[in-house]
Amino acid sequence: MIRRGRQGYAIATGLFVLLAASMCQSQPLWDLANQNKGLLRIATLFTAQNVRDHLSGGEGINRAIQWCKKTGVTHVFIETFRDNYTAERKVLEHARSRFEDEGFEVSGCVTTTRVGKISTGWKVISCYTDVDTQNQLQKIFEYTASVFDEIMIDDFLFTDCECDECAKARDEKSWADYRCELMVGVSRERILGPARAVNPGVKLIIKYPQWYDNFHNRGYEVSRETTDYDRIWVGTETRDFDNQRWGGKVQYEAYYIMRWLGEIGGAKTGGGWFDPYGTTEDTYVEQARQTVLGDAKEMLLFCYGSLLRDTGPANVEKLRAELPGLFKLAELVRGKPIKGMIAPKPPNSDAFDEQYVFDFVGMLGLPLVPTAEINTEAEAAFFSVHALKDAGFQGKLESMLAAGKPVLITDGLAKRLRNVNTDHERVIVLNVNGNPRNLLDLTRNELKPIRDKLLAPLGMTFSAPNKVALYLIGDNCAVVENFNDEPVDMSLQFSNPVSARKVLILPADGKVDFGCRDGKLRFTKMTARTLVAVEYQ
Ligand SMILES: [Zn+2]
Repeated sequence: MIRRGRQGYAIATGLFVLLAASMCQSQPLWDLANQNKGLLRIATLFTAQNVRDHLSGGEGINRAIQWCKKTGVTHVFIETFRDNYTAERKVLEHARSRFEDEGFEVSGCVTTTRVGKISTGWKVISCYTDVDTQNQLQKIFEYTASVFDEIMIDDFLFTDCECDECAKARDEKSWADYRCELMVGVSRERILGPARAVNPGVKLIIKYPQWYDNFHNRGYEVSRETTDYDRIWVGTETRDFDNQRWGGKVQYEAYYIMRWLGEIGGAKTGGGWFDPYGTTEDTYVEQARQTVLGDAKEMLLFCYGSLLRDTGPANVEKLRAELPGLFKLAELVRGKPIKGMIAPKPPNSDAFDEQYVFDFVGMLGLPLVPTAEINTEAEAAFFSVHALKDAGFQGKLESMLAAGKPVLITDGLAKRLRNVNTDHERVIVLNVNGNPRNLLDLTRNELKPIRDKLLAPLGMTFSAPNKVALYLIGDNCAVVENFNDEPVDMSLQFSNPVSARKVLILPADGKVDFGCRDGKLRFTKMTARTLVAVEYQ
């Protein structure tokens, strides 16, 4: 396969930026996005069906190009396969060339739904024990690697099949162990190897779903798969908590998973990916804010076809207005360590009845440091049943307590701990009662002693209602975010006097009376669904 060299591509891109600047002066977001793409890149996906419906003819491609430029999208993913439909080679190649000629970066994508033998579980998922299914999967990736140099794999690369063939193959293993082994093997032998044989330079991205507490149960193995793949991406589609069909996820989840996988993936970590399903304009852009706060280098707006209908156009309008602020937010967080209490989820750890508890604890205004490891050097910690996956956990907990560090533990973990005195003055037991969403009912007064104790080592106190998140970025930046539907008053008190100034508010027309006196930062009448960043010294 002959493709343009890097240098030629860069020159072509440069020429087109110049051309675009002279030809399309009414594309301010396109210019801004190109200036900022090294900091935060905006992407979209054309599903295989979008390719068929929107990119088969010149007029459709022109409309798509204009939409992307108007939205600040500089990177497009063009999908070859989804739901047992394969996009045509000549259509894919033509679309790829048109976007490249317009100055876009172009990658491929595959969604492994309805491939071969269907699972006994979810009907879009496949049985990967089945050899014919593996053969079909391999052909899809060989085909895609013959068209694209980078391939994203959407988050359906797992299995929940329990057919006789799978049951026999797993033998004595747990379903989780069998599926992790199976999917690691399928990735190596049926995806990575064959794709690289067709196109030695191809880079493959595994995009992990948002449901991190169930990864291992369905065969997503974040340790080995992250090692094997070239890059990783992250699902950050929290949607609307109250939506009947799509709801139940709090906004902090997108932040938690972006940071957690960001640590696991390191330099391999690419972007976060969210969609418009079950969202309002407000909850749609909250997904973008959380993705950027999570230090994503890129955000993908799934997907072109869906964004043209239903809530899509209004969502996109709101996002366009927010893009300049999102670039600013990316600048504030990029590459800086975060401070707070470690909130470890070891890879492949079981959640028992504390599913996604981290997300809800983050909503309480406790600045979490999502991590896969339990580092006893941390100044404070939140531990849930997930921590039991670490065989050395009890010793680590004891050493933190002996060092005088405050620790918040769930009631579920406290019950399972042997030989650790949870009446210790440094320990607070958080009553989850097997239902993390109940934490959202805690009052400001109930939250006070928890926040006071855990923030003490950081030299600050925080007072706010529930559903106001606090993020401590680097040495001099704090972000507060009101997820409530009404205005709130809050304060952040430093034990050492500081001076502080407001550096960003999202949305741009959000309001807050901000003041700082004697080390106390007051945020008064901060509007609903608003984020404020301050810098202090
Ligand atoms: Zn099966």
